[in-house]
Order: sequence, then C-alpha cells, then structure tokens
Amino acid sequence: MDKLQMVDLKSQYLRIKDDIDGAIQEVLNTTAFINGPQVAELARNLEQYLDVKHVIPCANGTDALQIAMMALDLQEGDEVITPSYTYFATVEVVALLKLKPVFCEVDPLTFTIDVKAIEKLITPKTKAIVPVHLYGQSADMDPIMDLAKKYNLFVIEDNAQAIGGYYTGKNGIKKANGTIGTVGTTSFFPSKNLGCYGDGGALTTNDSALAEKIKMVANHGQRKKYFHEIVGCNSRLDTIQAAILNVKLKHLDTYCNARRKVADYYDQQFANHPNISTPHRASYSHHVYHQYTLVLEGIDRDTVKKQLEEKGIPTMIYYPVPAHKQQMFQGAGAEDVVLETTDLLTTKVISLPIHTEMQEDQMQYIASSFLEIINALK
Ligand SMILES: *Cc1c(COP(=O)(O)O)cnc(C)c1O
Repeated sequence: MDKLQMVDLKSQYLRIKDDIDGAIQEVLNTTAFINGPQVAELARNLEQYLDVKHVIPCANGTDALQIAMMALDLQEGDEVITPSYTYFATVEVVALLKLKPVFCEVDPLTFTIDVKAIEKLITPKTKAIVPVHLYGQSADMDPIMDLAKKYNLFVIEDNAQAIGGYYTGKNGIKKANGTIGTVGTTSFFPSKNLGCYGDGGALTTNDSALAEKIKMVANHGQRKKYFHEIVGCNSRLDTIQAAILNVKLKHLDTYCNARRKVADYYDQQFANHPNISTPHRASYSHHVYHQYTLVLEGIDRDTVKKQLEEKGIPTMIYYPVPAHKQQMFQGAGAEDVVLETTDLLTTKVISLPIHTEMQEDQMQYIASSFLEIINALK
C-alpha cells in the first residue's frame, strides 16, 4: 500500500503530467508571466463552468475576500456576520479592514452557519453576511438570501472549500456554489478542490457593475493605467497558475466524484456507530468533500489521533481554535461571545484523509484501523 497522506498531489499531477507540462511550457515560450492570455481564458472557462456572468481571478482566496469587502465599499465599524468556526482568513480580512466581525453559531450537523441564529445578530450597522461553504458543503443559501433581502445586506460566499459543488434552492433550481450571493470568493491553494501549483484565487459575481469595481480594486484602484481612482491593491493570478488551472478545471467534476466515492465508503463503514457521527449531507447541497470531518462522541479525540498516527494514518483537526477564541480578538469584545456548538465541535471533530487519488486498499485500511481504535477505547 502506498504511503497515506491527507492529499496526494504528486499522483494527481502524474496522471495529467503531459497536459500540465505542455501548458506551463507554453507560458515559458511566450514569457507572458503576468496577465497572459491564459488568465482571461481561465475566467471565461470558469464563467461557463459555474454559469456565472463574471469571474475575476486574483492572487489567493484571502485576497478574494478582502477585495470583495473593499469593492462593496464596507467602511470602518460596519458589522459583518460570519461563522467563528471557519478557516481564520474569513475573519482575518474583516479585522484587517477595521470592520467588526459578528460571530455566528454553526449548525451542529452541517458545520455551516446556523441560519436560525443570524437574524438576532442583525443591527443597523450590519452590512454583510459571510456564509462559508465549509468542508465542501454549501451553507443553506435560501434563508440567508431572504434575510439579506429583508435587511438589505450583502452576501459574500466564502467558497474556498466548495468549488464544484452546488446548492439546490426551494424552487428546485441548482446553482453553483459562489454564484448565489452578491459575490463569491474562492481559493486555488494546491490542496483545495481546484488547486493550482502555488497561490491563486478568484471572485464570482452576476453583478456587472460590481465586477468592474472588483477588477479596479484588484488592480491598484485603476481602470486606466496610471489613473488611480480609489485605494486598491495588487492581486493577480500568475499566468502559469492560470495555465495549470485551465487543464485541471476539465477534471474538476471527476475529482469531486472521486472525493464523494471515498466519503460514500467511509459513511458506509461508520454508519450507526454510537461514537461516530459521520458528516451530514444536507438535502439542498451537493457535497464535494473538501474534507471528511466527523464528530467523535464519548471518545478522546487526541488519543484516537495519536493511535492512528502510529498506524501511519495522518489526520487533521479543522479547526482546533474557533476564530472568536483566537488571541488576536481577545480584548476586542470577542471574549464575551458564547458559541456552544462551535466550542464543542472544536474539541470533537477529526478529519480523515480524503483526496482524488485514494486507492481501495488505503480506504479500507483507514476505515478498519479507525474502527478498531475506537472500539478498543469505548
Ligand atoms: C483556504 C481558505 C481561505 C483562504 O484561501 P488562500 O488561498 O489560502 O488565501 C479562505 N477561506 C476558507 C474557508 C479557506 O478554506
């Protein structure tokens, strides 16, 4: 059996090596390293794939969030409702722009923002809601969009972990993650579902005026070279990364299906186990399993992690400390925030290896070892 890893980028590369190497070589031949034609090509390809009017590539997923908030003209002190249970970048940009993060609880089953907890956090200062499509599963967008309409709020979908997935609305219409809110942001970090070979990110929107503003913010606040209208930043996707992504986008559905197959297998093996709660599949969401994260009940997580490690099985804790408990927020009002589900989840979750190259014997070994360890501990 091959060595177990959380992700296997090497095997994935080797399968498409010729196409990738060719795409990189083409960029080298033309030396159009910045804003080469592959960048616009990627934007068009993604617009088609996601069925969205505008895709604006940028340097990474954190920048995408920052650019979204800048383009929406959020001002110092404006309140942004976001889950605390997320990768820290979601909340970090809020603080960086001197906006006020208002931490919302998550649903204990889906790990995404608890739509029942949002409304009571809305104040006259609230400007935006940032649902995070965590671990590859869409947040429940219909009620979020209803609230946004009622209170005139922007919705910024943090779609860094769920590109390739979609949401089925009450009306039965399927929409790609990141294309429902005012704007969506994503990341092409190598281990993400659509990963490049370095840093990369993008924004998605159906609002043409906003798309223009996003392009301007990402390009030094200028529409015309050397004429700077607003404060912006410099956030570009490298041409080489765009060339790689143009190749990999063709495989994204296959990659998502491969992840779903691993999840199916784990789900089956762990079904009805009293100490394991497998990741919930919400009826509205096509889950693309960026992570396979389960909740351990009545078993010491760290012991399980350690014993798996001894068997050569890596695991990760996403995330050990929720955003509102991070040191940088202490003294800034976050110490009064009480989020029971979030706090509980951070002590009980564990993520097993899941990726596009997982082999049958690897899945079997991981699942049987996991069960063996848990059954011995309970
Ligand atoms: C990865 C990630 C980001 C940041 O993306 P980078 O490309 O690493 O900057 C933001 N939000 C979430 C939820 C993520 O998982």
